[in-house]
Amino acid sequence: MKKIERPDLLIVGAGPVGCVIAERAAAVKKWKSLIIDKRNHVAGNCYDEVNNKGIRVHKYGPHYMRFKKKKVFNYVSNFTKWIKGDYVVKSKIKGKLYPIPINLTTLEKFFKKKFKKPIDAKKFLKKLQIKKKIIKNSEDYILSKLGKDIYENFYKNYTIKQWGIHPKNLDKSIVGRLPIRFNRDPYYVNQKIKVMPKNGYTNLFSNMIKDPKISLLLNTSYNKIKKKIKPKIATIYTGPPDVFFNFRYGKLDWRSLKFQFQTKKKEKIQECVQINFPNEKKYTRKVEIKHVTKQKSKFSTISYEFPNSKGDPYYPINNLKNRTKFNKYKQLIKKAEKNNIFFEGRLATYRYLNMDEVIEKALNLFNRLKLRY
Ligand code: FAD
Ligand code: UDP
Repeated sequence: MKKIERPDLLIVGAGPVGCVIAERAAAVKKWKSLIIDKRNHVAGNCYDEVNNKGIRVHKYGPHYMRFKKKKVFNYVSNFTKWIKGDYVVKSKIKGKLYPIPINLTTLEKFFKKKFKKPIDAKKFLKKLQIKKKIIKNSEDYILSKLGKDIYENFYKNYTIKQWGIHPKNLDKSIVGRLPIRFNRDPYYVNQKIKVMPKNGYTNLFSNMIKDPKISLLLNTSYNKIKKKIKPKIATIYTGPPDVFFNFRYGKLDWRSLKFQFQTKKKEKIQECVQINFPNEKKYTRKVEIKHVTKQKSKFSTISYEFPNSKGDPYYPINNLKNRTKFNKYKQLIKKAEKNNIFFEGRLATYRYLNMDEVIEKALNLFNRLKLRY
């Protein structure tokens, strides 16, 4: 390894969190950062690339950018132009496609009824809801809101396939990510700001770290360099905490995915960006990202997602066993801060976070660092 100048910040992970911290550190404090990543690219799980037929694909699953907060959107807008994020998803059940999240149209089509007003659907569902005193898990949550038929057709088997765990044993926040609507909004997410970076995510995050005060070392794991590079100010770690602490309290469980890509000489292959398969097939969803990247080409690429317990860590598994284990790691994380090592991001904090949420957390962490050092 060639000699590397001692950086102010050592940033482990070139995902959204790593890039935001490096950018802010350079712009506001003139700090020099070294970002390392064990992968051969920047942008973390948001990474996209152009395949051999010229189609931009999302290598680690579809990334639908939406912002809860205008100020976070304004910040990210410094690094990209946007196009509209037309995220429309359908679920295939017994050969028919239904809008998902569940909305009035889904309910009408599934129950073969007309609901003129939201209140009509609400009254109808009231008779189907299976109420629980305490909503303890994902099963209780859907049964209490939508009843048994919808639960069994749209949620139960998808969740078992996706997580390898019965919804009874998963926190309610998991299925609770999906809105339940009494209007006809066809979009996958509720946020008003739904956008796609015009030239992709890799371009966005590469633009973020263009400052000469930021260096990048790819194909490099933290373990390989931690004894050789001691930052002057702090280390920001965005990888899994159990790996960092040498599995002192055991392994945290993660759910992973295997992606299979297929390119066809066809303008469009399916009718919307994502089709979910709750009850058939080994894959959970089929994604044709061209619907949202709006690329013009004679070709299009579909990716199939096969959930797996092995592979890169993608989804923290929110159940009692893992929460208990992570709480122990949290104590070590607190102590590490005293030694100027900070944990942030979806992997490092073992939380099911979206891009806008981790970007906001990274901005907040930088503000803490700015005051402390
Ligand atoms: P990551 O993006 O995970 O980046 C961490 C980086 O650290 C990785 O590149 C990794 O290689 C590197 N690293 C880890 N450990 C080490 C180590 N020891 N040494 C060196 N490098 C290391 N969010 C949305 O807003 N909308 C979506 O539609 C959406 N869809 C998603 C679909 C899937 C399948 C997945 C998995 C996530 C999705 N997300 C989505 C979430 C989004 O990917 C994350 O919020 C975001 O990538 C988190 O950023 P991060 O910087 O915390 O971590
Ligand atoms: N889900 C489901 N049926 C669907 C879509 C989602 O049961 O058609 C449940 C499933 O448990 C999933 C969770 O809702 O893991 C969250 O879905 P989301 O689409 O937000 O997951 P992600 O895009 O993060 O994989």
